[in-house]
Amino acid sequence: MTGSVYLEGARGAASRGAGLTEKGPARQLSEADASITAMTDMRRTPPRPLDVTALFPELAPLARTATRLHPRPGAPSPHDSSIGGPLLWPTDEPWPYCEGPHQWARSEKPHSPDDVRQLRRIKKVAKYRPVDDAGLTVFTPEERATLERIRGGRPHPEGPVPLLPLAQLYARDIPDLRPPGGDSTDLLQVLWCPCDHPPDKFMPRTVLFWRRAAEVTDVLATPPQPSAVQFDEYVPEPCLLAPEQITEYPHFMELSEELRARIQDWSRWEVAGTAVDSSFQESPSEFYEDHLSVAPGWKVGGWASWGPTDPVPRPCPVCGTESNPLLTIATFEWDDDTRGWVENEERPPVSPSFTALDPGHQRLIDFFRAKGMDVQERGRVSRSIREIVPQPPDLAPRQPTEVQIASGYRQQLYLCPVSAEHLHIELMQ
Ligand SMILES: [Zn+2]
Ligand SMILES: [Zn+2]
Repeated sequence: MTGSVYLEGARGAASRGAGLTEKGPARQLSEADASITAMTDMRRTPPRPLDVTALFPELAPLARTATRLHPRPGAPSPHDSSIGGPLLWPTDEPWPYCEGPHQWARSEKPHSPDDVRQLRRIKKVAKYRPVDDAGLTVFTPEERATLERIRGGRPHPEGPVPLLPLAQLYARDIPDLRPPGGDSTDLLQVLWCPCDHPPDKFMPRTVLFWRRAAEVTDVLATPPQPSAVQFDEYVPEPCLLAPEQITEYPHFMELSEELRARIQDWSRWEVAGTAVDSSFQESPSEFYEDHLSVAPGWKVGGWASWGPTDPVPRPCPVCGTESNPLLTIATFEWDDDTRGWVENEERPPVSPSFTALDPGHQRLIDFFRAKGMDVQERGRVSRSIREIVPQPPDLAPRQPTEVQIASGYRQQLYLCPVSAEHLHIELMQ
């Protein structure tokens, strides 16, 4: 079959694109979709463009491992490592609450965690339907009624707020999860209060529980839930994980002045030839930052990312020992600068092509190319194409957990290596 697919900016052309009948590509895509979905637990970081320690041997002793979590929406059980999934919580242990203080604005019409997830489900399904004559998303009467009810809001929680499960990490799955003080726990549960905590923290407050999984025999089936959350983005979408251990080097701002100067010297990079994009000539430290040092996204261990502020010391509030990065709660798994970390699903590329695209769109383009269709223009897949061809789920969604910290930052948890009893530190970066 030959034909043409026109992308963004070619709306009229797409609907008359030869070979793009309503049934043909849609059927083929759903077949492709099934085979792609079957491969989703093969998430692996592509090799770094070069071995940075060959250029800067001073970095070698600073290498640290981190475990990228690679979350994907799913239906985790209490026996899985997960984000936003059910916890292996003993029935005989009280559920944790946050005493606040919380500030609820009068005008807010907050949603319950179930409302938030229902809203997401409705929007997800409706997104791929044909739009109406006015170009608006079409909802069924039942969906409209549900949306109307949800928009009415819920009462603000009175008194202490039950915490929400944020992450459950089994040591068997996460090589970089090391219980502090060398104790024998093998499960970390992170819960958070889905509210801001002014004046100190404009983000949720986290609480950590370390356990021995084998000691939990009766699992709490229905934990209490807050009647409402302050922001929908504080309700994590239940995700399964595909942990992967990688190597990281310190963020540029955490390096010594001498090493920073050497990294900023373009002549040091020239020996790497084409492995370094020459557009970084003016500022090679950006190449180091974007591609070689710290991975984006949710992860355990490794090095911290900085940017909103310079690095700050993180002494344990109890004993003063410097704390180590424990968990990074990321808004985004990748952005324009860090696309090079987007996991390779070990799916052989159909046609190697440009990489400056959303991976979901790239997959669609590769799919059409494999069918012998030309892709006429680079850019986003236009709505007119989505109307004809249901788009398969993104291989590497940017925000699989739906969590957002402030306007797109990370919440970093740091832990004292001496004892799990010592308070952890939370930073927004
Ligand atoms: Zn709270
Ligand atoms: Zn300590």
